[in-house]
Amino acid sequence: MKYVVCVPDGCADEPIEALGGRTPLEVASMPTLSRLAARGEVGRAAVIPPGLPAGSDVGNMSIIGYDPAAYHTGRAPIEAAALGMRLSPDQVAYRCNLVTIGDDGTMVDFAGGHPSSEDAAEAIAALDKELGGGGVSFHAGVQYRHIVVAPAAWAEAECAPPHDLSDKPAVWPSGPAAPKLRALMNGSRDVLQRFDLAANQVWLWGQGFQPEMPSFRDRYGVRAGLCTAVDLVRGLGVLTGMDVVEVEGATGWFDTNYEGKRDAALRALGSDADLFLIHVEATDEAGHAGNLDEKIKALENWDSRILAGLVDGLDGLGPWRMLLLPDHPTPVRLKTHTSESVPYLLFDSSVEGRGGVYSEPATATAVTVPGHQLMGRLVSQRPGV
Ligand SMILES: [Zn+2]
Repeated sequence: MKYVVCVPDGCADEPIEALGGRTPLEVASMPTLSRLAARGEVGRAAVIPPGLPAGSDVGNMSIIGYDPAAYHTGRAPIEAAALGMRLSPDQVAYRCNLVTIGDDGTMVDFAGGHPSSEDAAEAIAALDKELGGGGVSFHAGVQYRHIVVAPAAWAEAECAPPHDLSDKPAVWPSGPAAPKLRALMNGSRDVLQRFDLAANQVWLWGQGFQPEMPSFRDRYGVRAGLCTAVDLVRGLGVLTGMDVVEVEGATGWFDTNYEGKRDAALRALGSDADLFLIHVEATDEAGHAGNLDEKIKALENWDSRILAGLVDGLDGLGPWRMLLLPDHPTPVRLKTHTSESVPYLLFDSSVEGRGGVYSEPATATAVTVPGHQLMGRLVSQRPGV
């Protein structure tokens, strides 16, 4: 049996007036998905447990079959894992954005003008040299997204995600460790002004300790791989011992290499992987941009450029099962994530299921199951899923 997990990030949405009260999933032409849903099982999954942020870190942790209520310690340590870092028990990791704050204290750009990774790395190296030490260190990541490691006591703070502060007064950290964090953030201004960057300081948030997640193979008894352009998903793969496959042209944007991801899945499943997860960010980005056309187009790309060929390829490998669901909704009207439950599809190529329609309204009255339990059903030995 081969297993494939499909994650169209943030694809779930709301009924939209411009679509005659239908959702993007209902409007998009997705003949392959419709065919699978018609003989699979569709239902409703809670991927964001109550009390946890509606982030891709939490939602994707549910999808790979780990209860975020038990395993989620914060966002930064997952991204640190994607950079190959492992924290010791006396360390906490913070996400360190390069941001642009206006003279009036407004969060002008949480992405600091989107610097190149190379330019950012020079600035991060300078920050580490001048502000590091005493257990504090800066680690360069991708573009505006970096990591600061600090002593464990620094974890005690309330920190606002900078993308939630866009065009609003920047709310600085509060709590016992806040003075240290504020000092570091303030100190970064002097260093960064020497660089030709739009960013004028760092912003620390998303802190957490090293998550201790049992390996995917130990937990589910299958060899797994994944492909993604997103550090958080890559980090979850690293933390659970999945094989993280790099796909050329995987951009995390509308122009991503859909066929490359499909082919990476089929290649892995055709050799020694039992399970492969395909993550595509484009649907989420379209939601954040409030771009309805791109959201529909990204869904149609999923169907024509991934699912159609994937199904053909999987049929050639023998019996297979699929789990498809997003990690949270990203409604185009709201331009941000919500904690609503999402539709899921479970499909078994050798079992005729009850069948249904894969959309938000079609699953609205279904009993909601915890998202992290679906992986166990996917790989269960029992016939049917
Ligand atoms: Zn997401």
